[in-house]
Amino acid sequence: MKTQSLHNQLVDWRHDLHMNPQISFEEEYASNKVANLMKDFGIEVHQGIAKTGVVGVLKKGNSNKSIGIRADMDALPINEINTFSYKSTIENRMHACGHDGHMTMLLGAAKYLAEQGNFDGTIYFIFQPDEENTFGAKTMIEEGLFTKFSIDEVYGMHNIPGMETGTFGTRKGGITTSENLFEISIEGKGGHAALPHMSKDTITIGSQIIIALQTIVSRKLNPVEAGVVSVTEFITDGKKNVLAGNGLIKGDARAFSEKTNTMIEQSMRQLVKGICDAHGVSYEVKYETTCPMTFNQPEQAKSATKAAISLLGTDKCNSDIEPRSFSEDFSIMSKSTPGCFVLMGNGISGSNGRPLHSADYDFNDELLVKGSSYWVELAEQQLTS
Ligand SMILES: [Zn+2]
Ligand SMILES: [Zn+2]
Repeated sequence: MKTQSLHNQLVDWRHDLHMNPQISFEEEYASNKVANLMKDFGIEVHQGIAKTGVVGVLKKGNSNKSIGIRADMDALPINEINTFSYKSTIENRMHACGHDGHMTMLLGAAKYLAEQGNFDGTIYFIFQPDEENTFGAKTMIEEGLFTKFSIDEVYGMHNIPGMETGTFGTRKGGITTSENLFEISIEGKGGHAALPHMSKDTITIGSQIIIALQTIVSRKLNPVEAGVVSVTEFITDGKKNVLAGNGLIKGDARAFSEKTNTMIEQSMRQLVKGICDAHGVSYEVKYETTCPMTFNQPEQAKSATKAAISLLGTDKCNSDIEPRSFSEDFSIMSKSTPGCFVLMGNGISGSNGRPLHSADYDFNDELLVKGSSYWVELAEQQLTS
């Protein structure tokens, strides 16, 4: 693999990033590190796009063609329980989603491509803040990512625990779900627990709503489609001997298509209206799509798979992988510019196989050479000289 000689260097960078995790728009450490390293590689560096966002620009030859490759930089507010030497040095901050590895793979590709890359065109290395709260990609675009820079197509990658180390997967069409947060407020009437006939008990009404919401996916969604409706909070002002007058139900809905998302929202509004009208209480439903579905364009999905097959061989690549039920704000980039999001296995055992966002998860160092060589392969393939 092309970046094999960088192995030890990549492991050092990744461990250093792992020890210094920061969250949403506070990723100063990572931002400065990637900017300084890219300057050392001789890459033109633009900082301060979406506060900590960084774009590296590397041009060779005369072609107008270009490609953008994106890595996310943020960590999570989690206390790491791993005990290895490079564990997080900051309390309640941890790279539990592997973004330390994503940055390192892109840095490895940047170093190789700057020093030895064989291509004709421009490569944009995009280091993005705040993926976890889904504001990073959006803010970089608002601050000119696709207007200041002429980026023909954009690619992103996520490691996947539970998938064999270094195997590759993508698919055309939807690959990660949309995330939709909802809030249902109910205004009943509180009162004495012993005098229910004189109040409008929000807990009873809210409970009926919560049960009714379970019928959206099970009874209204076509079984061949996928969606999730999860109620995660039910907060009321009831006390031990006081019936609740006000209630707030919060939750999270996921969908793999716009059609499903619209159906979930409309059904929710209809059910809440029906139940609240039947009980004579007022209500409000807020339903907000915080992250759209990631949609892979067929042409980019084909190119992404072709590069993976050249690098890893057919048996390690799946061009029609099952879509994933997490959301990913790369979706906002690939909505603006044709793109493809790809997945690479982080391994099955130990901390590499623990689910993302677990306090004992770790990015797999074995993936650093494979992932960075993949970006080199893809960039050289798309910008053939
Ligand atoms: Zn995450
Ligand atoms: Zn992530």
